[in-house]
Amino acid sequence: MTSIVGSAASQVLVVGSVALDSVETPFGKADEVLGGSGNYFASSASHFTPVQLVGVVGDDYPLEKLAPLAARGVDLSGVEKAEGTSFRWRGRYRHDLNSAETLETHLGVFSHFRPKIPEQFRRAPFVFLANIDPRLQLQVLEQVEKPQLVACDTMNFWIESRRPELVELLGHVDLITLNDAEARQLTEHTNLVQAARWIMDKGPKHVLIKKGEHGAFMFTPDSIFFAPAYPLESVFDPTGAGDSFAGGFIGYLAATGDLSDRNMRRAVVVGSAMGSFAVEKFSNTRLLEITRDDIDARVREFRQLVAFDTELGA
Ligand code: AMP
Repeated sequence: MTSIVGSAASQVLVVGSVALDSVETPFGKADEVLGGSGNYFASSASHFTPVQLVGVVGDDYPLEKLAPLAARGVDLSGVEKAEGTSFRWRGRYRHDLNSAETLETHLGVFSHFRPKIPEQFRRAPFVFLANIDPRLQLQVLEQVEKPQLVACDTMNFWIESRRPELVELLGHVDLITLNDAEARQLTEHTNLVQAARWIMDKGPKHVLIKKGEHGAFMFTPDSIFFAPAYPLESVFDPTGAGDSFAGGFIGYLAATGDLSDRNMRRAVVVGSAMGSFAVEKFSNTRLLEITRDDIDARVREFRQLVAFDTELGA
């Protein structure tokens, strides 16, 4: 098989958190490591296409730790350094690795952040509004020029605190990624098909609902696609799986420039593959180690995982 990436790569603009995470899992602890939705997304998407990252860090942020991202072709000129402390997230996973327990969210410089999209980023054909305050996600859309695809993510924190703005945002995006618990919380439907329908009625025509180790659904008005999660023997730290999934999904679409249903289904599998790499080590370590060969090989393993013969015989 040839590599899954073509030559028509388009820019992806991502606006998200650039954080310091402290994470506890049954397998160990990491303190103040590189995290944030923007960081994970960029680490993943940059395997496929050039990425432009917009975010904010405080004056305590170890900016040199972002150097590996720059080396991978992530344009960091939209990462602003502000006076104050960086965004910090502290979370814990118990034996159910599918759900993070947030112990602390320290917004720091994020609470006064107004995203400024640099002039040279405003025409990016693919825009990902990673998990941040929906009011900021809306401000980004006021500054960009007719992207081919606008996607967003969110989480319980914002569903609880900024619900009206989040519902308003849905009217301006083509696609949303969220996990099953978030979809249920946002829509107040326990049934995921009904939850996806509720979201599509508000705007986005593609709704990607992630179910952690149980895979991911892509709902459109006419179809439902499902991809399993890669059955890893050991999941080390689930933090960032969702953003890495989104990075693989959008990065692959931008790399191929093909928004057909067939290609979007392939993108879901690429996203699942990238999510599976992210959880193999703390922080974005594994995402920065892997090569395109590793990604291609894992995508092939997904095919093996679900291939079966439909000729049932007698
Ligand atoms: P996920 O892909 O859902 O596991 O996202 C994990 C990342 O989200 C972590 O690296 C956190 O720094 C970041 N994060 C957690 N809470 C928030 C929040 N309220 N806003 C923005 N980013 C967050």
